[in-house]
Amino acid sequence: MRSITLGEVEITRVVEWQGAFGPARAIVPDAGMEVWKANEELLAPDFWEPDSDRWIGALQTWVLRSGGRTVLVDTGIGNGRERPSTPMFHHRNTDFLGQLAAAGVRPEDVDVVVNTHLHADHVGWNTVGRGPGEWVPTFPNATYLIPAADHARLDPAGGRNLRVDDVALFEDSVAPVVRAGQAVLWEGEHRIDDSLVLEAAPGHTPGSSVLRLGSGGERAVFVGDLLHSPVQLAEPSCNSCFCEDGAQAAATRRRILGRAADERELVVPAHFGGPGAFEVRREASRFAVSGWASYDG
Ligand SMILES: [Zn+2]
Repeated sequence: MRSITLGEVEITRVVEWQGAFGPARAIVPDAGMEVWKANEELLAPDFWEPDSDRWIGALQTWVLRSGGRTVLVDTGIGNGRERPSTPMFHHRNTDFLGQLAAAGVRPEDVDVVVNTHLHADHVGWNTVGRGPGEWVPTFPNATYLIPAADHARLDPAGGRNLRVDDVALFEDSVAPVVRAGQAVLWEGEHRIDDSLVLEAAPGHTPGSSVLRLGSGGERAVFVGDLLHSPVQLAEPSCNSCFCEDGAQAAATRRRILGRAADERELVVPAHFGGPGAFEVRREASRFAVSGWASYDG
């Protein structure tokens, strides 16, 4: 199990899936082939497959042990979901809970679940199926921290036009934890403990957030889907195809990365394979990796 310790917080990565997902141009449409080629040394082989021009990424949960409590950051796709418009997410069956157990985490041990935002690949293991169409919280003792703006966007009571997958994820992965009384819908800023604070970072979705860690003079920021590829450091204006408000997503990306560079925060995106986390520096109006995370073992 690969872990990093920052101050008094231990960070462990639990991977649900890792590999080549789709055409690089489809995932980050704004970054032309010439941008990927110019950054090949940074991108290949962990984040880009040059021969097939495919984007390589990971679906993973970050497990934080902080102040005697266990905090999960994002919960992947989950098993047995109806996601007809995203074949890779549809009817999955993985041993994620076995992987979590291998990291020393049983479902009942989890105190806090953070969903950085409400997309299908960040909320799946919020729940498990107990019978046909019946979903219950996977983590019976956890408080689930859910961005209120994303909850409002997906709530069928809002009456907006929603994709079929969005309706399904709300019903099977979000509504059950709210009904169980285990959800806290937060906005603006939400402090978890002395070391961890959630902060709104809208753009990718209206409720997208980052989780900042500060402990013993060390810092990190879990940025969710602010980045899908290191190519977005070289071209910070380039959004992923999943960003809902492009202008706001780009402005938020520059703001959060700039602060991470200035305050020496380790940047931990949701979907980076390879070492998964990095230190960043400014390079004129762009950003560059100044070092990758190193793990204890
Ligand atoms: Zn995502």
